[in-house]
Amino acid sequence: MAPVVRFAPSPTGRLHIGNARPALLNWLHALATGGTFILRFDDTDRERSTEEFARAIADDLHWLGVDPHRTVRQSDRFAIYDAAADRLRALGRLYPCYETEDELERRRKRQAARGLPPIYDRAALKLTAEEKAAFEAEGRKPHWRFLLDHETVAWDDLVRGPSHIDCASLSDPVLIRADGTYLYTLPSVVDDVDLGVTDVIRGEDHVTNTAVQIQLFRLLGDGVPRFGHHNLLTTAGGEGLSKRLGHLSLSSLRERGLEPMAVASLAVLVGSSEAVRPVGTMAELAGIVKLDRLSRAPAKFDEAELDGLNARLLHETPYAAVAGRLAALGIGDGEAFWLAVRGNVERLAQASEWWTVVTGPVEPVIEEHGFIEAAAALLPPEPWGPDTWAAWTDAVKAATGAKGRALFMPLRLALTGLAHGPELKALLPLIGRARALSRLKGEIA
Ligand code: GLU
Repeated sequence: MAPVVRFAPSPTGRLHIGNARPALLNWLHALATGGTFILRFDDTDRERSTEEFARAIADDLHWLGVDPHRTVRQSDRFAIYDAAADRLRALGRLYPCYETEDELERRRKRQAARGLPPIYDRAALKLTAEEKAAFEAEGRKPHWRFLLDHETVAWDDLVRGPSHIDCASLSDPVLIRADGTYLYTLPSVVDDVDLGVTDVIRGEDHVTNTAVQIQLFRLLGDGVPRFGHHNLLTTAGGEGLSKRLGHLSLSSLRERGLEPMAVASLAVLVGSSEAVRPVGTMAELAGIVKLDRLSRAPAKFDEAELDGLNARLLHETPYAAVAGRLAALGIGDGEAFWLAVRGNVERLAQASEWWTVVTGPVEPVIEEHGFIEAAAALLPPEPWGPDTWAAWTDAVKAATGAKGRALFMPLRLALTGLAHGPELKALLPLIGRARALSRLKGEIA
């Protein structure tokens, strides 16, 4: 059966490069296996979730190259969570508790004073019907805890290998708050069951939820999915990425002019056994990234690396991959131009600067007038091609005796107005004879 994966952000902020990691690891897993990728908005928190953030997340994913096969929202699905909660109640696995936060805190302090771990003591299980009625009469509303089996739950993690958690070391988790809203744990499992998710790939900050969720899958589903918990991206200094790091949001990286594949390559290759390098397409990246080759240590990345990766990616990008975007920049007649300049751009938009060098206006820089006049007189007739530059400069060299830098630099300055740039062998035919001649005469052309 082809895998079904999901990426499940809460629409309470924009995605940053750290969130791109689970999105991409799921997407690449689906690509590599012919699987289905579901975007699930975990928007049960109605106060903090917004429609704008949901739209922005979908846009950012699309820019990155992740196009979900299906999108669902938890806020549309409360009825199935209610049904699952009823089922757990009927099984005796969901019980009402009336403690306030203060009472729980005092209890934890008493446990700490006696050297005991802060595990919920299940006092609410012992409440009689009268005691519960008394709480209700006081106006207290219950929150609901899942009665864990005190067993060791084991799974073979797709990233971390054999893993286990002793559930006797956990408090029975609260699944439903006193105001009736769901915490993340139950809806996530109910959705994974309902949507047929086979592989839960997510950050290792969720490892501690896994044993609880496996117990819920056993009660509510037909089986337990595979789990893979990847290491988290951190800054070079080892700090976690929070939503506050605005400049690492996907939208800021996009505005900085970075290529999505440069961002994607860094987001998944860092902290793996693969060298961080620019990979041109998702299909290629899907062939490279393997969940079991991710490291257990945090994936530290240096954001300065993004610029270098971006440049290296563009230097190898075929024309077909950028043709549309070059056309949108007003660059026509593209392949020869792109191949001539791609080695000299760090951002795609810089192609425009070279387009101006080719099509003008360029203010020529002429320092040795006699030399340039001689060179102008030797310009070969059109048609021009890849050999024109060599033929012309050989003739100029023979006529003037200039060679090396003394031959090439004055010609470059006159033809482009710049002391650096793409190979003139490739640029000269694009500039064309008429414009080249005008520039050699010192005219702005
Ligand atoms: N909404 C959860 C999160 O963003 C999803 C976790 C999961 O993938 O199960 O952390």
